[in-house]
Formats: sequence, structure tokens, C-alpha cells
Amino acid sequence: MDQDKIYIGIAVLISFTYFFIFLKNFKGILSIHSKWTRFISLSILNASYTWLLFFFFLKSYQLVSFEQYFSTLGLLSLVFLFILFHLCAVYLYNITAKETITNHFFTCVIVSIGIIVCFTFNIKLLNRNVTFDKSELALAGIILIISLFLSTRLMKLIYNDLIKNEKTISTGFLALSAFMISHAFIGSCLEVIGSISIINENHSSIIEIISILILLLITASYSEKQYIEKNQELFTSNNHLNFLAYHDTLTELPNRRKVIEVMNEWIEKNTKFAVFFIDLDHFKHVNDLLGHEVGDKLLVHISKQLNLTISKSDIVGRLGGDEFIILKAFNLNDELTQFSSELIAKVTNPVIIEGHTLNVTTSIGVACFPENGLTVKQLMKKADIAMYCSKDQGRNTFFFYTSEIDHNIVRKIKLKEDLKYALARQELEIHYQPKYVAKTQEVIGFEALLRWYHPSIGYISPLEFIPIAEETGSIIEIGNWVLENSCQDIYELNKESSNNYSISVNVSIKQMAQTNFVETVKSALSKTNIPPSKLELEITESMAMEDISKTSNVFLRLRELGIQISIDDFGTGYSSFSYLKELHIQKLKIDKSFIQELEINNQNKPIVSAIISMARDLGLKITAEGVETSDQLTLLQTMDCDEVQGFYLSKPQPLQSIKETLNKQLSIQK
Ligand code: C2E
Ligand code: CA
Ligand code: CA
Repeated sequence: MDQDKIYIGIAVLISFTYFFIFLKNFKGILSIHSKWTRFISLSILNASYTWLLFFFFLKSYQLVSFEQYFSTLGLLSLVFLFILFHLCAVYLYNITAKETITNHFFTCVIVSIGIIVCFTFNIKLLNRNVTFDKSELALAGIILIISLFLSTRLMKLIYNDLIKNEKTISTGFLALSAFMISHAFIGSCLEVIGSISIINENHSSIIEIISILILLLITASYSEKQYIEKNQELFTSNNHLNFLAYHDTLTELPNRRKVIEVMNEWIEKNTKFAVFFIDLDHFKHVNDLLGHEVGDKLLVHISKQLNLTISKSDIVGRLGGDEFIILKAFNLNDELTQFSSELIAKVTNPVIIEGHTLNVTTSIGVACFPENGLTVKQLMKKADIAMYCSKDQGRNTFFFYTSEIDHNIVRKIKLKEDLKYALARQELEIHYQPKYVAKTQEVIGFEALLRWYHPSIGYISPLEFIPIAEETGSIIEIGNWVLENSCQDIYELNKESSNNYSISVNVSIKQMAQTNFVETVKSALSKTNIPPSKLELEITESMAMEDISKTSNVFLRLRELGIQISIDDFGTGYSSFSYLKELHIQKLKIDKSFIQELEINNQNKPIVSAIISMARDLGLKITAEGVETSDQLTLLQTMDCDEVQGFYLSKPQPLQSIKETLNKQLSIQK
């Protein structure tokens, strides 16, 4: 067989093997973590392939011998190729970041010049007598650039396909293209350079080159078209997915994820900014009363209002539900106060939605970077605390985070949470404070006073936790528990000591507002065998005044059952005597603030005696609470007060110690 043909055959075989190895391992090479190892692997593969192929082509032209090619000079050309490919790999890698057709073409120009230099250099090394015609070299360069561009373009498309692992181009087509690329790439170089007078002129023909180029052009442009179409689809669906991932579907505002990203960016850049937590007040009512559709429309309206308030550099986002957030870069703190007022004004602007006029209000909390926190988590938490403070202070206002509000609010949040489980965890206990006949100091009954022993905080005053229980609504469950258990305790106490003590229970207006309140009281009485006349319900003056007609209605029904009702903390509320008649009550408890300074404060004496004489006229009984000294007791006795209660006579105590005291008294009497 013709030796030339064998060498060409070997060259083709190498080409196949190379592309087989290359395509099989390309993904693996690309996934090598270290950038340099990746480039070097690519370069070794490419350089050794080209070098070997080059050898066989030269051999087929009978230009070199083994000894020549594998000499120091030949090996040097391998090193040269390696460096060249390495540079190309780095360069190609760098431009893939800004991958455009122009960039790609420009790379091919550079690589082609490199290859021409390399090849002519190599041929010169092998045969010093060779001279190159400049115009032929230029033609070789142009053909090389075109073939390189087309083949690498095709390669790129195949790689992209491989990387994405989507089989849009079949493996057979891949192999075919790979062969054509290799052939065109190397072949056209050699053909052109070969045509430079040193090679047998019959060996190659320009037609061969042109046909290869046309074939390449067709396959490359076909693949390019497919690639662009597919990419565009991907691009639009990607964009859509991106939008969904970073935006809230209802309001189209950036979502929590996006806001956190921006916050992180601003923190990184060390931008001074404020985080506004914006929570609508009573949004649940809108949803519950007018339906979710109205609720949704309101949220969209609010998001637009917020967008109108901010400047271009600020960000409004929706965190979920009725919670919004604004990130605002600022210079002076005064700007923020002004901005908060504007926000409130914008949100509280009445709006008509589906025929309903809605007057929404909002509570806002503000935290600043870097003063209040250095991380997203800290800033969010502090803005939330400040917002909570706004809610706590009656809503429709804004607060800036400070460590003082933090302490109070954090404690309140904790108590709120823990109070939910206090009953179940048996942390609540009832203490009893005896009540006495003022004249004789004989015990006539007890007031039930709730105690909470928190496992980690310790004793918490009812003055602190009762308002929280009222806020959260747990007062209903807790209040019923107190009612039933105190009745039960007093029933037992009465049975053991053969007495007939009464029991006073404090009730909250929240309990009384329950439609089944009277039934609850009835059932507590019947369960515990306490006669209605021995149960006294205490309600504070301010609470009773909240809705007089409703209160008096409930009071009337309770009174019809025979239950006693007394107004607690009398004198601290509206102090209007006219309503007392309407309320169907039997007793007034003068607030301890009047009693405590009875001996020293001359103003208190006439007030207390006026209250007592007025109560007489209305047929009401009077209890004085907070009696702490014997002087106070004596004064109250002379003023004709009916009942007294206070530390001077006895502090509130657990049932057990009340029982023990009673037993002692009983044994003394015996
Ligand atoms: P209150 O109904 O006015 O109860 C009287 C408060 O005065 C009690 O405080 C009692 O310990 C205290 N006290 C009694 N004698 C004296 C005295 O001589 N000097 C002074 N300085 N104080 C005296 P406490 O137990 O801390 O309860 C505070 C408030 O918590 C109660 O005021 C009541 O409004 C509320 N509360 C307590 N238990 C319950 C309950 O079961 N339900 C409801 N709704 N409220 C309760
Ligand atoms: Ca009371
Ligand atoms: Ca009181």
C-alpha cells in the first residue's frame, strides 16, 4: 500500500481517537475545580493531539523522519504548541464570560496567527531551505481564521450541548462534526501551508478546502440557529422563573429573599441605611369581614402607596401577609422621622375598594445599619421589635429601635408566649386575701388573687401579666379557671372550718363580653356548691365604664342570680357617680391609693368620707382596700366603712396557709 495513504489513515485514526477521548472526558475536564489544572489538562490534550497529527501529515508528505521529529527541536515544537494551547484556553475561558460572536471571531484571529507562526516555525526547523511567500501565508491565515472560527463555533455549540446534557444533537452527528472539525482544522492549515511551494502540488487541491469549508458553514450555521432558538426559550423561561423567585406574585414587589439579598449587598458596601418594618393594623378584620379579594386589593393598593413614598434608590418589599419592608439609604436621622410620618400619612389615606371605604392604619418599626445591627438577621429582629412597640403603644405610629424598648418588648413577647402554656404547666396559683368587717375585724370572705411563678423569671405580678392575658385573649380561659377553682377552694374551706365565707373574684371585661359569661358563672357555682350570694365579682371602674349599657345588662342578669357585684379601684376611673345607679351593683371598693395616705394626706380624707356617704345614699356597701396601718383602720372605722382589706390585717396567702391559720384560731377557741 502507498505509504502516504497509511500515514493519512493513521492521522485520521488519531483524529477519531482524540475526539472520542475528548468528547467523552470534556465534561470531566471542565468540572475540574482548579482553574489552572483545567487549563493545563485541556492544553496537554490539544497540544499532544495536534503535534502527533502534524507529524503524520508531515510524514505523509515525506517531509520528516521519526528521528527528526522526536529530536530536541521537534519536542520543542510540542512545548510551543502546549504553551499556545494553554494561552488559547485561558483566553477563551476569559472571553466566555462576555461571550459574543465578535469576541469569538477575535479569538480565532489571535489563535490563527499563533498557529501559522507555530507551523511555519516548525517547518523551518525541519527544513531550513524553505521560503515562504507572504501573500500565500496571508491566504493561509485567512482560510485558517475562517475554518477555525467555523469549527470552534460548532465545537462550542456541541460543548454547550454536552454541558447542559441535553441530547438535541445526536451522538452520531457529534462524531461526524468532530471528525470534520479536526480534519478541517488541521487539514486546511496543512493544505494551505503545504501549498507553499514545498509540497507536491498535486497532493492537495483548493476545491477540497472549499468543500470542507462549505460543509462546516452549513453544519455550524444550522447548529447556531438551533442553539439560539433553544437559548431564547431558556432565557425567557429563566427570566420568568427568576422573577417568580424574587418577587411576590400578588403585589409584584420584591420578596423576602430579594430584600435580604439587597440588604446583604448594602451591608457589604457599608451603606448607611434604615430598615422599616411596616405592618398593617387589624388587617385580619378586612379579610374576615370583607373577604380575601378585598384584602388582596388592599395589599396591592398599599404596595403602590409605599412605592409612591420612596425615592429611586430605596427598596419596598413584601415579607408576607400584611407585612412590608422598606430599605432606605440615609444621611441624617431627621430624614427618617419625616419619612416615617409620610409613610403613615400615605397608608392611612382612606381608600374605596369594591364599594367599601377602608381606613387602614399601620404600625412601623425602624432599625438602622450599622447602629442597631451588623447583620440582616439582627436588623430584621430589631425593626420587628420596634414595630411591635408601635403595636403595643396603640398602633398607627412608628418607633425607632432602642435598647430600652428592646428590653421591655422582648420580655413582653416572652411572657405572651409563655402565658399560653402557664395554665397547662401548672405555673398559675391562686392566693387568698382575707376581707374583714371594719368594726369587728372578723373575716367575712376572701379575694382570689392570681399568682404566676415563671420557671425562669420567677414571680410575675398580675399587674404585668393580666393585661397581656387580656390582649391575647387567654384571660378567658385563665379567668374561668380562677373562678371555678376559687369557688372550689372556698367551698372546701367552708366545709372544713364550718364557716360561710364569701369569695371575691376579679373579672376582666373581656370575660364579661363573652356571650356565655353568665352561664359560665352559673356552672362554676353549681359545680362547686357555692351559693350565689357568697360569690362576689369585682370589675374595675374603668372597665365597667367602657360600654355601660352592655355591662349593666350583664350585671342585671348576674344580680338576678343573686351574685354580688362590686366596682374595683373606685375613684381612679371616671368617678362619675351618676352611672352607678344604672349598673345594678352592690359594692364599691375604694382604691388603695386613697387609703394609703389617709393619715398624712389631708385631701384624701374628705374624698374617702364623701365616697362613703354617697355610697350610703345609693344603698351601696363600701370596702376599703390597701389598709396598711392601724391608724388607717381606725380612721376607716370612724368613717363608717363596711369592710376592710389590706396588708395590716393579712397579706394574700396560699390556700394551705389560710387553712393553717384558721385551724390555729379554731384550736385557740377550743
Ligand atoms: P386588685 O383587684 O385591686 O387587687 C388588690 C391588689 O392590692 C392585689 O395586688 C393585692 O395583693 C394588693 N394589696 C392588698 N392589700 C394591700 C396593701 O395593704 N397594700 C398594698 N400596697 N397592696 C395591697 P395583686 O395581687 O398584685 O393584683 C394586682 C391586680 O391584678 C389586682 O388588683 C387585679 O386587678 C388583678 N388581678 C389579680 N388576680 C386577677 C384575676 O384572677 N383576674 C383578673 N381579671 N385580674 C386579677
Ligand atoms: Ca380586686
Ligand atoms: Ca383594687
